[in-house]
Amino acid sequence: MSGGMGELCRSASEGSGIATAPDAVPRKSADYKSQLKPIWCPGCGDYGVLNSVYGGLAALNLDPDRTVVVSGIGCSSRFPGFMRTYGFHGAHGRAVPVGIGVKVANPSLEVLIVGGDGDGFSIGGNHPAHAARRNVNVTYVVMDNQIYGLTKGQVSPTSPPGSKAKSAPYGTVEAAINPLLLMLAYGATYVARGYASQAKQLTELVANGIRHQGFSFIQVLSPCVTFNKTATYDYFKERVALLPEGHDPHDLVDAMRLANEEETFYTGLFFEADRPEYTEGLVRTGRSTTAAPIEVERLIRQYS
Ligand code: SF4
Ligand code: MG
Repeated sequence: MSGGMGELCRSASEGSGIATAPDAVPRKSADYKSQLKPIWCPGCGDYGVLNSVYGGLAALNLDPDRTVVVSGIGCSSRFPGFMRTYGFHGAHGRAVPVGIGVKVANPSLEVLIVGGDGDGFSIGGNHPAHAARRNVNVTYVVMDNQIYGLTKGQVSPTSPPGSKAKSAPYGTVEAAINPLLLMLAYGATYVARGYASQAKQLTELVANGIRHQGFSFIQVLSPCVTFNKTATYDYFKERVALLPEGHDPHDLVDAMRLANEEETFYTGLFFEADRPEYTEGLVRTGRSTTAAPIEVERLIRQYS
């Protein structure tokens, strides 16, 4: 884990290829806020995630005009509206392929994909697998509240068995999926978990995830205070803990063991690996992605 924001800022300038200029005026969190005020319920965990994303972008001094935030559908997918970057609020479950399309069309852009547990692991459940195995250089932040909030409270793929909600008044009998285990198995090269209330750690995880040259996945425990009466702040307070000191983030098996822990929600960097990145592979094999915008213009002319 990186130590402090000063180190993060230094790290960002070390040839990571992120969208900032060396002589750029340092930016603050406020520089990434749009004029739109979030309309999440008071106390929703997503406020904390938004603030940590502002902080992570500021720590890297990313150029808002070179940054794109893509979402699907759900409460958390309102996210791009609150960012002073480019944004795309897409179709349910399709944030990941849209974000990848943006990155492949123009790899010089920083792409942040955001969404919820239902959007990412039910409706769009097949997409993270392929983004991870391709190792596309985007950062995917999933705000996991273990429920569908926007549609007013149905169990989601991360709701544990026994969870009660409008769609399961007697308690769901389905097993929950474990997003961290999935992403580790899919081959994601940066896998982390944060908690909406642990702002400093989450800010660092976001910044380091963006800095990582490959597919970064960050699960954020983000309570839905309105519809989830089980996974509350009190519930997480008793169960959230930092990863054990000495955990080696290059040890995939140990990362899986810790991700599989059911009594404790460990937070921090579970796993990081260095593997060839997708768009670099395209360029290396002669399929320059820089040709894509020209191609799009030709297609638009052809069909307009
Ligand atoms: Fe947040 Fe839940 Fe309200 Fe949606 S319904 S804004 S997830 S608290
Ligand atoms: Mg949800």
